[in-house]
Amino acid sequence: MLSFILKKFAGRHHRKYIEKCRPIVTRINEFEQQYQALSDDQLRAKTDEFRGRLKQGETLDQILPEAFAVVKNAARRMSGRKVIVCDHELTWDMVHFDVQLIGGMTLHEGRIAEMATGEGKTLVATLPLYLNALTGKNAQLVTVNDYLARRDSEWMGHLYNFLGITVGCIQQSMHSEQRREMYNRDITYGTASEFGFDYLRDNGMATRKENQVQRDHFYCIVDEIDSILVDEARTPLIISGPAPIEREQPFTRLKPGVEQLVAIQLRQINKLVKEASDLLEKPGLTAEDKQTAAMKMLQVKLGMPKNKQLLRLQENPEWRKLLDKTDVEMHSDFNKDELYKYKEELYFTIDEKNHQADLTEVGRTKLRPDDPDAFVLPDLATIFIEIEKETTKTPEEKEAAKREAQARYEVISEDIHALSQLLRAYSIYERDVEYVVQEGKVVIVDENTGRIMSGRRWSDGLHQAVEAKENVTIERETRTYATVTIQNYFRMYEKLAGMTGTAETEATEFNEIYRLAVTQIPTNQPCIRIDQNDSIFKTRRDKYNAVVKQVQEAQARGQPVLVGTVTVEQSEVLSRMLKRANVIHTVLNAKFHQQEAEIITRAGQRGSVTIATNMAGRGTDIKLGEGVRELGGLFVVGTERHESRRIDRQLRGRCSRQGDPGMTKFFLSLEDDLMRLFLQGNLASKIMEGSMKEGEELEHKWLNYSIESAQKKVEQQNFAIRKRLLQYDDVLNKQREVIYGIRNGALHSDRPKDIIFEMIEEEVATRLESAGYGEKGGAAANLESLVGWLNSHFPVSAKVEELTGDAESLLKSIVERIKQAYALKESVEDQEALGGLERYIVINAIDHHWQEHLTEMEELRKSIGLRSYGQKDPLSEYKGEAYRFFEELMNNIRLQICTSLFRSATNRDAFENLFAILSRSARMQGPAAAPTALGAAVQTTQTGGGTAEAPAAAAEQEIKLPAVTIRRETPKVGRNDPCHCGSGKKFKNCHGA
Ligand code: ADP
Ligand code: MG
Repeated sequence: MLSFILKKFAGRHHRKYIEKCRPIVTRINEFEQQYQALSDDQLRAKTDEFRGRLKQGETLDQILPEAFAVVKNAARRMSGRKVIVCDHELTWDMVHFDVQLIGGMTLHEGRIAEMATGEGKTLVATLPLYLNALTGKNAQLVTVNDYLARRDSEWMGHLYNFLGITVGCIQQSMHSEQRREMYNRDITYGTASEFGFDYLRDNGMATRKENQVQRDHFYCIVDEIDSILVDEARTPLIISGPAPIEREQPFTRLKPGVEQLVAIQLRQINKLVKEASDLLEKPGLTAEDKQTAAMKMLQVKLGMPKNKQLLRLQENPEWRKLLDKTDVEMHSDFNKDELYKYKEELYFTIDEKNHQADLTEVGRTKLRPDDPDAFVLPDLATIFIEIEKETTKTPEEKEAAKREAQARYEVISEDIHALSQLLRAYSIYERDVEYVVQEGKVVIVDENTGRIMSGRRWSDGLHQAVEAKENVTIERETRTYATVTIQNYFRMYEKLAGMTGTAETEATEFNEIYRLAVTQIPTNQPCIRIDQNDSIFKTRRDKYNAVVKQVQEAQARGQPVLVGTVTVEQSEVLSRMLKRANVIHTVLNAKFHQQEAEIITRAGQRGSVTIATNMAGRGTDIKLGEGVRELGGLFVVGTERHESRRIDRQLRGRCSRQGDPGMTKFFLSLEDDLMRLFLQGNLASKIMEGSMKEGEELEHKWLNYSIESAQKKVEQQNFAIRKRLLQYDDVLNKQREVIYGIRNGALHSDRPKDIIFEMIEEEVATRLESAGYGEKGGAAANLESLVGWLNSHFPVSAKVEELTGDAESLLKSIVERIKQAYALKESVEDQEALGGLERYIVINAIDHHWQEHLTEMEELRKSIGLRSYGQKDPLSEYKGEAYRFFEELMNNIRLQICTSLFRSATNRDAFENLFAILSRSARMQGPAAAPTALGAAVQTTQTGGGTAEAPAAAAEQEIKLPAVTIRRETPKVGRNDPCHCGSGKKFKNCHGA
């Protein structure tokens, strides 16, 4: 009842929006009517007319009705024409419907248009893309795979070309030359990862602006936006390469121990489960027996939640209820100690819901009888205090002892982490469910779509742990060159829009994370799909048997069936069963997009049976074959409720497009993951517990509701996880913006020496400050070291006695001297090449340290996870640390720039010329340290940039400098500036307090 009212209410808000659009629709159609009288050329001329009017100051909103009308009219003129799309010929037969015009407006406004499958979203997008491309900036459309990018750009390309608008598409195989050409067109189609990787390459790797391919991030429509911004967004885009030094992997070392532990625990668990079942089946079961059995079952659940025997016990509703009750009771605060006691009887415990695994005391002792503390984090603070107290040690010895303690801490924390990942790998990650092993590699299976995610890796060492478990090569640790999350990539666009058949359930997320509102667009024809109640069975086997029976019946009638599965494995199980039943069918796993797209177009033919994972053939329309309408249209069968309602809706939406008939039904079992985890102890299980027998079928409206509410819970949980991840990533994102900003500045400037001198100035200022020239001014304490530093970096022949005056004027005069020295250098360099050299200096410094920083930030993430055992909020800890890391990064970059400025030359001649001039001038100025500034280090740089990596030989030649990295005690931020952590408070009241 309540949901009914809510639906009405939400519906009203969408209706209001639609009403607002109506008058504009009328105007578009009036214009379109007028345009019918124009010649083709006159219509095409409108494109330039609009461009001109925009330059004159008209806004996109003002010309929207005319522009949309032009597109619609072009579509009308195209009707009946033969067009080639992906090497196939088809006839253009589309003219925008009114609801499609509304969809177009929604997209132009930067919202999400929820339009059901088959409503023609591909065509809808042409309207706002055309309009926004008129600005001269790049309008983009993101598709879910390469094939659809090509198909849609070619298909709609006929329309754009008719209007004199250029369109391109990015394909994975393209090299940067081609990519740049594609981005230079008015409209560009491509996948999220191609766009994201191009961004990373442009900003994190390109060493010349000519290597950059993207123009701007202006307007982007994301097709199937839920799939991309919700499902895909869980794995960030990473460009990586092998790490320079290979570290010893703890996984292989720890694996035998873990394997042994898992085996012992398995024996223990089997014993426990046997005892429990013996007790329960004992005639004359006492209340006490029952209690004991319950606790044993609970222990089994804690130790091995997916234990088959336990699942079997739970098939008895009475025992299931008993276990659930005990579980809930024992997890209450009241029973904390007792639960702990029970946990401690195991070797390790597993929290399936939270994907966690922990060793117990017994487990630790078993693993390392000689040193049970090997897996307990030492208390560093106390250890340091102890070391300080020792009177027999010299300061150097104390320092060494501390370093040793620190190193031990790091080893232990890494071990703990690896251990828990290994336990997870063995206990929660099941081969062929969560991952598959292909050609000696562990490949992730996307849990939502069943898609094989080649090339992606679990983070945090989990992937290595699974590799260790499967005895395949543990891939070397890699160094991250550049990374961005999908979320943060898309947040860069000035205007973002999206379209999908299913956004409503995730509306909060779209709104909170992307500020995207969802608008439901009514369908062109009323939807007459019949969604039947779910059927629930006791076991998976029963369920599959029922599915096979349904499929057979439908096939006998001639009605086409599309069977949706959650995983590839399930698809295969079902396919085997159908084969045994002599049902001819096709299986799609979302591996070969184009081929599968062609198969799925035929899924609506009479008598066809298609099994598909969720993503397979997405984006391809299923048209009904002849005579199928009369049979009730396409029959969509779901074999498992998905964690997220959206994915279920997506499956249902595959039938009944454009007013077609169609029917959907889900078949579930009590053994399904979702049912097992989240339906425990609620209304549904009460209904079932009494009567459910093997082979029996249960069906009721209420069941659908309780399953939905279980789904809602999981959705919220997953959203919370994604949001949390994003909060962490936001920290890195801000840093990336700063770094890429500087990098791009250098890349786009002909002579980026301004950036260099800014850096130098800041470095000198910092050093003046630490030399005692701080706010107080005057009495400098540590001038020798400052002078030493200056002379070893710049040929300025500074002397202590010259350094007088206040900090400000000193800074000015020092920088002035460095500039003069540089002017001298400029005079002997190849003028053409200087820009490239300067660029190289900045970019090389940034890349080297930024990549190191990325790795450090990753480690920080891991260690923060461990620290969160304390009372502190890990996120704010992370922010604080990240800021310190960033400070250090900037210091290092600055320093490297200072170091390399006078040590690089465009060629060896220039270097020697400079050397000659300098030694002459140095002589004139007296015996100063000028030559040391140059020493023996020549860093010959390729003219015009070259690669970002310094030639190894040159790097080796570099003279050693004293360790000069300055670690500021407090970050250099104005006390009244807003705090770096984003709290909105002033720095002095937040992290600076
Ligand atoms: P969606 O992406 O919304 O699921 P598609 O863009 O794949 O839908 O289009 C589905 C089908 O509808 C396509 O076969 C397309 O040719 C057809 N179609 C779309 N718009 C129109 C229209 N205005 N008139 C006729 N057919 C249309
Ligand atoms: Mg589509």
